[in-house]
Amino acid sequence: MLYNEFYMKKNQSLCDWKRSDIENNQALLQSLVIVPKFFCRKCARVANSKKVLCKPSGF
Ligand SMILES: [Zn+2]
Repeated sequence: MLYNEFYMKKNQSLCDWKRSDIENNQALLQSLVIVPKFFCRKCARVANSKKVLCKPSGF
């Protein structure tokens, strides 16, 4: 599933993923974090798109 489909379905950022979301969407997660350009100042997550972080900040 593409991220956009996932986002529209669940309306949540990577920061909001539950453990089950991570386990069920590992390939998608890898595609979002494999070359991180942003990190979340609140949750300490990283991603290659700031759209998926709640408080994104560039490196
Ligand atoms: Zn966050």
